[in-house]
Amino acid sequence: MKSSLYDVDVLEKHLTSKGFGGRDRRYIRRNIFRNFMPVESLECGNQIAKDLFAPFETSYLTLISRIDSNIDGASKLLFETKDGKRIETVILRIASGRTSICVSSQVGCTEKCRFCATGELGFLRNLTREEIIDQVVQAGRILAGEDRSLRNIVFMGMGEPLRNYDNLEKAIELLTSGQAFHFAAKRITVSSLGIPELILKFAERFPDISLALSLNSSNDARRSEVMPINEKYPMSALRAMLEKLETIRDGFVMIEYIMFKDLNDDLNAASEVAEFLRGLSVHINLIPYNPDYSLNKSFFPSSNETIDAFKDHLKAEGYKVTRRFSLGQDIAAACGQLANKV
Ligand code: SF4
Repeated sequence: MKSSLYDVDVLEKHLTSKGFGGRDRRYIRRNIFRNFMPVESLECGNQIAKDLFAPFETSYLTLISRIDSNIDGASKLLFETKDGKRIETVILRIASGRTSICVSSQVGCTEKCRFCATGELGFLRNLTREEIIDQVVQAGRILAGEDRSLRNIVFMGMGEPLRNYDNLEKAIELLTSGQAFHFAAKRITVSSLGIPELILKFAERFPDISLALSLNSSNDARRSEVMPINEKYPMSALRAMLEKLETIRDGFVMIEYIMFKDLNDDLNAASEVAEFLRGLSVHINLIPYNPDYSLNKSFFPSSNETIDAFKDHLKAEGYKVTRRFSLGQDIAAACGQLANKV
């Protein structure tokens, strides 16, 4: 059985056994992990790259299709795993020049948020570390070909990342390792729908990784309507978790709030959110709901005026608030729309 190219220790030993010194090994690692070069194109002295890397599995996902948005800088990549499962990754080329990728962590999802196309798929399996990393590598390769560099990695694609804790942990270790991808921790964001014990465990393990919490509602009754997880972990548990987080990590937690017309978008809801978050170090991100017309038609996006009024209300309460303009709406690549419908 072949070794994984992403097992850095095994790779190091192999290169050493083939006569590569420290400088040459660093050069090869930098080209693989930081420049996203395919191994076949590496210069390896007088050795043939294909033969040198023959003992390694170098690719775990096959790119089935790529759809580029006609209205913004988003690209949706549909990958197939070796066992025939399909997952999606999104490249977000933001006008300011920054580039992010949105990575999937599961095939389908363990949760069943009622507004989410991925949740509708059900859960098939967790992605391996290799499959998570390969999304980054293949997206990074596309961006390198455009002379863009990858700045942010967000775990907001298909799946609840913390339900795949072990592989998420291994992937982040590799992404932040100086021997491999060497991403700054603060440029990686893990978004969760709110599983307190796993968020706390993760924050203790990776205090510098950015965290986002999908709140999406201002009270338990409304949250339970859209997110069944709330039955198990009500908002009081989330509040206690947010308070505990402040004792184990610095920096704010991003509070994601998807805005649904007539469900969670009036000023009473804004007051409830303000009350719920009172005294916490948070940044609130308002996200207009992205309608996916194959889903439950009881959800609609809030109007721009409603979102602005909600935002102003929270700002007047002293919160940092931004409104997210989701890219990729025309290719079903925006939040909650990833469902292998290419
Ligand atoms: S919103 Fe996230 S956690 Fe909820 S079903 Fe969709 S992918 Fe899963």
